[in-house]
Amino acid sequence: MAKGTMGRRTALVHGGTKRSQWGELSEAIFLTQGFAYDSAEQAEARFVKAGPDEFIYARYGNPTVAMFEERMALLEGAEDAFATASGMAAVSASLTALLKAGDRVVAAKQLFGSCLYILEEILPRFGVDVVFVDGTDLAAWEQALQPGATLVFFESMANPTLDLVDIEGVAKLAHAVGALVVVDNVFSTPVYSRAIEQGADLVVYSATKHIDGQGRTLGGVILGTRDLIRKRVEPYLKHTGAAMSPFTAWVMLKGLETIDLRVRAQTASAGAIAAALSGHAAVGAVRYPGLESHPQHALVKRQLGGAGGTMVAFDLKGGKEAAFRFCNALEIVLISNNLGDAKSIATHPATTTHQRLSPEQRAGLGISDGLIRLSVGIEDPEDLVADLLQALDSI
Ligand SMILES: *Cc1c(COP(=O)(O)O)cnc(C)c1O
Repeated sequence: MAKGTMGRRTALVHGGTKRSQWGELSEAIFLTQGFAYDSAEQAEARFVKAGPDEFIYARYGNPTVAMFEERMALLEGAEDAFATASGMAAVSASLTALLKAGDRVVAAKQLFGSCLYILEEILPRFGVDVVFVDGTDLAAWEQALQPGATLVFFESMANPTLDLVDIEGVAKLAHAVGALVVVDNVFSTPVYSRAIEQGADLVVYSATKHIDGQGRTLGGVILGTRDLIRKRVEPYLKHTGAAMSPFTAWVMLKGLETIDLRVRAQTASAGAIAAALSGHAAVGAVRYPGLESHPQHALVKRQLGGAGGTMVAFDLKGGKEAAFRFCNALEIVLISNNLGDAKSIATHPATTTHQRLSPEQRAGLGISDGLIRLSVGIEDPEDLVADLLQALDSI
């Protein structure tokens, strides 16, 4: 079957598969760092130019990793992809591969802690000027982009408040001044993403999250045009070394087989949970992009086809004390900080993922002491709702 004619779920199961002479059904783990050549001439030719299914060294590429990259590119609708050792390796490489001293970056202020560290602490050390804006405010992007920029960076759905950034709107403004658009798309998930057609030049995932989906391995992937991936990202990564291991790539391939089923089931449960939490006496605001009450619901429809995703955030009226009592009373939902997992997970951002920020910074980002971030898993939705309600009642 021609690749172009495969449906998405078919591509997730069959896309990118490379079989050895044994015809193995399940993808093989090519646990090898090197490749033997038939002759010195072949080695020379491959170093001059390696073809798509020719490998030199696992830091540059490996058959299992290549299967994962091809399958990801099919899912995302991207020309090409490069896999990395973690999501942060993907974020840092996508920025560092494209930037040099004297460049200017405009970024959303609503960012994952480690992304913020790269932009605030590392890039300025190398002479890159970084400016932050409220990612939800197109007028703020327009103003910040006025003096020109090399690159814009944002999370399309922010952690933990689930605010969206308008990819199409920001990309238009960025491209008008010649800036490249790099999108961290973890919370939107590759299942609902249309970020490339909406204007992203590079789309970045922590594969640790929904792509693995079962909490086993760390990984990342950068997707985009063949030109950007092969001429900018690949040279940077193959010489700096954050390669994905073949074992991890195999776990991720297995994750991709079921990602569409998992993420759609998790999204349906998240919707049911958001509805069940809304109006409970102990709960203040419920933030879920799939709810009509989400302030950006129109954008959710335009950008994600109305899919609210697998995360729900809500404020407990009793602050930190209520949040801790709630978490400690949970019987099925686990207390952790991963997300996109088959297991449902509750996080208290103020004391964990966003502890490093000052109370003022947290307030500015909408992270109250009573905020709970819920990553909805694939358990029976009735069990999850019952567990959450009994924990709320125990406050
Ligand atoms: C988890 C996460 C990352 C980092 O990914 P790792 O695989 O943990 O390195 C980056 N961005 C977002 C939005 C994330 O949720």
